[in-house]
Amino acid sequence: MQEKISTISSPDLIWVRNGLYCKTPTSLKGAIKELKCIGYKVKDLRKDKDTLERCTVEQLEAGSGMLWFASLKDVRHGKCGSCGSLISTRGIQSHGHTCEVCGEVTYYELVEDSTVRFTFRGDDGFFPPELHMEVKRWDVEEGWLYLKYAFLDLGRRCLFGDEAEDYLAANTDKWELVEEDGEKLLRVKYRSGFMVPRDDDTIEMRDHFGGYRNFKIVKVWDGVEYDEYDRNFPLPDTVLLYEAWRWSPLPVTPTLHERLFRVVSQVSRKDYWYQDGRPEFKRAMYEEMGVFVRHFTSLDADAWDAAMLDFRLDGPGGIDDVAAFCHPEAVVQDEPNVGNLLVALGDAIEGRPVHPNQLAAAKRVAGDPIIKDPFH
Ligand SMILES: [Zn+2]
Repeated sequence: MQEKISTISSPDLIWVRNGLYCKTPTSLKGAIKELKCIGYKVKDLRKDKDTLERCTVEQLEAGSGMLWFASLKDVRHGKCGSCGSLISTRGIQSHGHTCEVCGEVTYYELVEDSTVRFTFRGDDGFFPPELHMEVKRWDVEEGWLYLKYAFLDLGRRCLFGDEAEDYLAANTDKWELVEEDGEKLLRVKYRSGFMVPRDDDTIEMRDHFGGYRNFKIVKVWDGVEYDEYDRNFPLPDTVLLYEAWRWSPLPVTPTLHERLFRVVSQVSRKDYWYQDGRPEFKRAMYEEMGVFVRHFTSLDADAWDAAMLDFRLDGPGGIDDVAAFCHPEAVVQDEPNVGNLLVALGDAIEGRPVHPNQLAAAKRVAGDPIIKDPFH
């Protein structure tokens, strides 16, 4: 992705992804002027209300975080699938929304033959049973979702056959059987999740498939229209500016690696990642970190360029390698969470092999008395 504006360039301005690290106040001033010229709205976080609720100006300037935030104004639009007009994105993906130009519907969340995966409300715990059924119609006004009385067998936790019937029998207060045109339908209370309070809903929607979508999101720049995620869009949507002269070079500390992962917008906690050795990082990510290492840390950047060729690409391994490079006594965060356990359990339930690391992480969680209880 293009995350760099080639006209904003000088030896005192270093890009890493959409972060622009300014080495001097003069280079920062020039960059801001240029960004505004292009059409960015540039915000000084020292004057931003939300930011100041979290920290003081002194804290902001003492840290190495961004101090300016630039975003492109008004480039995202909806494009109606019926008339092709550029329309507002506001509400465009809510059930029954219509195009402000031609009046055609832009989106239905559920239509006939959509399928829904849901659980009855009130079923707590990590693995509530789920039903997967086909939609007949959705009466949004009254808040009734009509489902065809048949259970789709899709594996995982979806109930099927007798088990599904038992689940219905255990929840008779949450559905009704009705007949329309000779067809047996099951209706449940369900209102659109976004627009109306869902207090009287009897189901919790887990997923739905096969809605009706009659729009797309486009970005328009300089009279040219691009698809929402078109890699050819010439500018980054946002630019984060840093006043690097305040803190650079960063000293070598046991947590410096955390900063390097932030630079490339990645999580530096080992438990966050899959534990089974699958590749999560790309070599290019280490190259980007290397630019930051060279310009803004006290680390040996030439040594980094050589060492990073051997850094592992899986989450926990890569984090360990970067941390070990940064400091001999690096402190790496690793707090296995319920997510690790669920992944390992899911693998075990479906008969897939569980990687030893994953098992170790899951065991540590399962042994934690605070989060163990729901599984009993
Ligand atoms: Zn239209």
